[in-house]
Amino acid sequence: MTARFHIRTYGCQMNVHDSEKLANLLHHAGLRAADSEAQAELLLINTCSIREKAEHRLYSDLGALRSWKAGAEGRVLGVGGCVAEQQGASLLRRFPHLDFAFGTHNLRLVPSMVSAARQGVRQAQTGESHSLERFDLPQRHPAFESRTPGRAFLTVMEGCDMFCSFCIVPLTRGREISRPAASILSEARQLAARGVVELTLLGQTVNAFGRHDLRRGRAGAAGALKSFGALLGELARIPGIERLRYTSPHPLFFDEALLRAHAELPELCPHVHLPLQSGSDRILEKMRRRYSAREFIGIARRLRAARPDLALTTDLIVGFPGETRADFEDTLAVVREVGFVDAYAFKYSPRPGTKAATMDGAVPPDEAQQRLEALQALQRGLTLDAHRSRVGTETVVLVEGPSARPRATASDDAGASAPRQLRGRDPYHRIVNFEAGAGCVRPGALLPLRLVEATPHSLIGASLDSAGAPT
Ligand code: SF4
Repeated sequence: MTARFHIRTYGCQMNVHDSEKLANLLHHAGLRAADSEAQAELLLINTCSIREKAEHRLYSDLGALRSWKAGAEGRVLGVGGCVAEQQGASLLRRFPHLDFAFGTHNLRLVPSMVSAARQGVRQAQTGESHSLERFDLPQRHPAFESRTPGRAFLTVMEGCDMFCSFCIVPLTRGREISRPAASILSEARQLAARGVVELTLLGQTVNAFGRHDLRRGRAGAAGALKSFGALLGELARIPGIERLRYTSPHPLFFDEALLRAHAELPELCPHVHLPLQSGSDRILEKMRRRYSAREFIGIARRLRAARPDLALTTDLIVGFPGETRADFEDTLAVVREVGFVDAYAFKYSPRPGTKAATMDGAVPPDEAQQRLEALQALQRGLTLDAHRSRVGTETVVLVEGPSARPRATASDDAGASAPRQLRGRDPYHRIVNFEAGAGCVRPGALLPLRLVEATPHSLIGASLDSAGAPT
């Protein structure tokens, strides 16, 4: 009987994509995805350590999984991702029912670690690799299914050399390394041939692609392309690729070629996730972000000059060590001035091993919570304004599947016969919920809609033929 696996994923899109790579490797090793953890013989947890809370969640998960492991003969449990990279063998000592731990550079070893675990070998494989071999992964197995047909992640670089003082990523993901352009383009062509229409280019500082090679005068990853902007241009030329996105860029690496790409490539979606972190120059310096608030606003302006309808989203940290009320007010002011469409705001969480974890001036938890709530209230208003400004316009969504939004109008009686609610993403990366109607709407399709209503978290769309005028 074919062994079944299940993967639990925490954290960022890099982790989501690493889990896809793992699933594909396991398919090539002869395993298949289980419908649930209860039916799986192999369970992998792909961890995140960006905040303390995420790390504690792993420990409680692992404790609870003692009964899963004991529930059937021969079950195998493995942990990967950022926590495994940092803690490796100590996780095996702390959790005797854990079979193996693998670091962020060791995905390719997982099938052999599963085989070894079946023979009773417990091991940890961690440590940084500077080899480009980590990008040599097999093509999508015919039985591998991505979560959203039509859409795919594509790794263009990994690691980070920026060492922001609050961030653990340079320690868990290692130094910056760019994937050879030929390999990126080859995978993109394969994905397009399999029906993918939207690519999201991934990297910790994705727009730094190729910079070390270029600075050192080597052809390296970028090869003849010379820049991230040029890579986008090449990808846009691949037949079948209709949408390009990238995440996460660093504000420092928006050069002329990338701005030009936003102005000239219709395939490049009008959305950039541009992490601000703080609007106070004093705090930005302590964070080692290498830009001032004015410089950040300047980048946002240049991006909007290149693409006037561009939607900007961001990441923000409140309560960084030493942050005063005045520093926080500076953050609110920049958020207002830039007018982000959405923001992921968090309270500062010290991560052992980072520079910020040794800084004085901890902000009291109550004060940090108040600041977080004030920031979130400001952002909610900005998001709703942005959504409202689009009601009555048309858009095109990439259909993802069933909507997560409860049907506001369907009573329990009507619910069974009510049309299906689906969701998709528009070019600005906003979620649009809509009723499928009588027509067949398959996940992965590009569907034109008219926007008829705005909510704080999403937009409501209607098909062009049924919508007529907005309701
Ligand atoms: S740029 Fe800064 S925040 Fe982003 S991954 Fe690198 S160190 Fe972390």
